[in-house]
Amino acid sequence: MNTSDATHGNHVSITFAESECSDGMCCFTCVIPPKNEHLGFFKSLWKKGTGYPHVKLLVTSEGYKNELYDSCKFLDFTIFSDTTDAHLKMDLRCSVYKSRPMQCRGYPDEAGESLYQRISGPCIFNEYAASGAYKKLVYKREWQAFYAIRDDIKALGHICADDDTSLVREKILKTKDVHLATLSINGEEFDYILIPIRKKTQNILYLSKKHQPISTIRQAYHKWQEKIQRNLQNHYGHDWEIRLKNEIEMEENDACKRCDEDTAGNLEC
Ligand code: SF4
Ligand code: SF4
Repeated sequence: MNTSDATHGNHVSITFAESECSDGMCCFTCVIPPKNEHLGFFKSLWKKGTGYPHVKLLVTSEGYKNELYDSCKFLDFTIFSDTTDAHLKMDLRCSVYKSRPMQCRGYPDEAGESLYQRISGPCIFNEYAASGAYKKLVYKREWQAFYAIRDDIKALGHICADDDTSLVREKILKTKDVHLATLSINGEEFDYILIPIRKKTQNILYLSKKHQPISTIRQAYHKWQEKIQRNLQNHYGHDWEIRLKNEIEMEENDACKRCDEDTAGNLEC
């Protein structure tokens, strides 16, 4: 992947629409089996969402190969000027929400590798927004996610709600941390605009009784033991329990230290 910094003065921000699940990350990765097989034959003939195939999810982590995910064909990706007009908003929505497949209806309260093997787990955005300690333990690495949008005015036209697509492109390129990149897909090279996905969970993370933000490794393990244990066993074999115990202890000691430091100089703790 070749990248270049597209920022020309950091004047514009791109944030999510203030609405639950406006990140749509699970519609690129966990909910959909390869080749959109969850849609079935008839649904696969329905009209596509605006994001497909123009927007992909790029996951990068130091020392690992980049991963590029296609979205579900029903994902609508919309980018539009917010009320102040100076900034942009993104909203990712299911275009067939009322008729969405069973896997999508249950997710993330019920998730699993097949319809018959259901285990619940934190959703992908929740894990993305979790601490580095959680990610290093459960995924053995920290990772950064980007929306990769085809840098092509026709493709951008599908996802821009504003009339002037070129102006929206200019605004996107003026945003902090946005990059232009050439990605190689099946041996061909394409230009993309990479928008980093922010980890701010407020108003975005799906919440239910079963599905709460990840605050600590202990809390996450207590809540989603089966899924997390499976990852740990894959990564660490017989040593998984000792790794888990050590990481919990380390995280709790760090939290205590931070609290002590704050108490010394900050009466609010
Ligand atoms: S908040 Fe979680 S459940 Fe909602 S769209 Fe994002 S990944 Fe999916
Ligand atoms: S059908 Fe809708 S909810 Fe399910 S993966 Fe596709 S866009 Fe997401």
